[in-house]
Amino acid sequence: MYRTHTCGELRLEDAGKSVCLSGWVQKVRKLGAMTFVDLRDRYGITQLVVGENAPEEVKNSVAKLGREFVIQAKGTVIERASKNNKILTGDIEIDVNEVNVLSESEVPPFTIEDQTDGGDEIRMKYRYLDLRRPCVRKNLELRHRMAQLVRNYLSERNFIEVETPVLIKSTPEGARDFVVPSRMNRGQFYALPQSPQTFKQLLMVSGFDRYFQIVKCFRDEDLRADRQPEFTQIDCEMSFVEQEDVQEIFEGMIRHLFKEIRGVDIPKLEKMTWIDAMEQYGCDKPDLRFGMKIVELTDVAKGKNFAVFDSADYIGAICAPKCAGYTRKQLDELTEFVKRSQIGAKGLVYVKYNEDGTMKSSVDKFYTEADLKVWAERCQAEPGDLLLILVGPKFKTLPQLCELRLEMGNRLGLRDKNVFKPLWVVDFPLLEWDEETQRFYAMHHPFTAPKTEDIPLMDTDPGKVRANAYDMVINGVEVGGGSIRIHDSALQAKMFDCLGFTPEAAQAQFGFLIGAFKYGAPPHGGLAFGFDRLASMFAGLDSIRDVIAFPKNNSGRDVMIDSPSEIAQEQLDELGIELRKDIEK
Ligand code: ASP
Repeated sequence: MYRTHTCGELRLEDAGKSVCLSGWVQKVRKLGAMTFVDLRDRYGITQLVVGENAPEEVKNSVAKLGREFVIQAKGTVIERASKNNKILTGDIEIDVNEVNVLSESEVPPFTIEDQTDGGDEIRMKYRYLDLRRPCVRKNLELRHRMAQLVRNYLSERNFIEVETPVLIKSTPEGARDFVVPSRMNRGQFYALPQSPQTFKQLLMVSGFDRYFQIVKCFRDEDLRADRQPEFTQIDCEMSFVEQEDVQEIFEGMIRHLFKEIRGVDIPKLEKMTWIDAMEQYGCDKPDLRFGMKIVELTDVAKGKNFAVFDSADYIGAICAPKCAGYTRKQLDELTEFVKRSQIGAKGLVYVKYNEDGTMKSSVDKFYTEADLKVWAERCQAEPGDLLLILVGPKFKTLPQLCELRLEMGNRLGLRDKNVFKPLWVVDFPLLEWDEETQRFYAMHHPFTAPKTEDIPLMDTDPGKVRANAYDMVINGVEVGGGSIRIHDSALQAKMFDCLGFTPEAAQAQFGFLIGAFKYGAPPHGGLAFGFDRLASMFAGLDSIRDVIAFPKNNSGRDVMIDSPSEIAQEQLDELGIELRKDIEK
């Protein structure tokens, strides 16, 4: 028997017991004739003490111990003279009478402590050691708890978890697919699913009624802090539902998670239309932890011979409270911020509404104090506030104002990680026009139903059609999204037509779904949550990587197993793949 107890288990009540523990050596300290060893496992740390009177062989083994050795120690639980109230086992120690080294360890490349000396890269290379650090392990424990809560919540409500295939078919819509060559079908490829979308809809046609799956999805996109090439969704679908039915269940699920994990009560979620979100927050995922809404000034700011404004499609402002005292340097910083290529504004106009009621702006040449007061009023500014104004084409300027608003939120400390403001964003446009390819794309995916009252517009003005779709947004992060689906073959055909598919192309790509809809498809809808994002938000982390056991880096590489990697010529031959020599690696 390797152990009678874990390293996090023993308390003062256990004093006098003979025990046996196994774990990793965290630290060895010598104090005169005594040696103390901190023994660690997943459950905690227990102090071992090898006293003056310990058997010689125990003293010898302990003298050879190094960090991260795996040992087994036997002895008696005793009360500690100097207690450590920072750990749960801090009242006791083990008076050791036998030590067995189960496995030696080289000196680890970084310290296995919450405050480690290892940089990002080295920790990723030795991720299995990084995962020994309690602060990293805790994130995965939290993730596990969340998965359990989700499974139970949904199972209790008649959802059943069904696995859908991982080797599926490539589709031209959506993000780029990861593809897998087929040996048995030379020249043909599977694709890894970007989501189980069509399969879950087929399950509804099969009468499963309520489905969920905690499932890996794959998208070959450029990576950012909150993106990984493979990520996990809580994927769900329900039959005989309308938008409100889906929202009720999943709002309930999120509320349940907040209560159980964070101990917070979330009130009923607000619903905001897409256009309101865009016009007031500049994006479709508003951070409602703070105000500073965008205010349009187009009508009041034109006509004073300031060419930039007079020729602008749109003029919008945010009002930063108590920032009228900003220095030249601070204003320059903000100007630089909006001019960065990622944001792309041409410049920034400011108006200081000074505490004494006077106005000072970067466009004083063109506007009188009375003019500026009108803007300030429109923005409901108070003396002491600062207006920050951007101009340009409306739907280019709004996202820039969104970034500026978030930046000001950060600077003013208004984005508290322990405050949670979820909402539903609804009434998205069904279709998005792409100038480059001169065609419409589905904003959500091609199976999303239009709002019933907008269906006639599909023939006359497709860009105006609103989708029966909804996103759940928390603190500026889209944590989930879904829609009521099209369940009628004729409407689905019309949708494919709007997307520029010929009937033959639609048949070739999605014939199975169109076919299934001919055999009695129930009205259905669903959604999917980004599980990694949710977990990282609950853990209070900035990156989803920290809630993934073995994540990839920014270039999509797993530096621990060194993947992706080349494959042997024989494997390529078997697959009938010849690599082009003229393409650089
Ligand atoms: N499959 C969708 C997605 O991955 C979610 C949904 O519509 O249920 O975004």
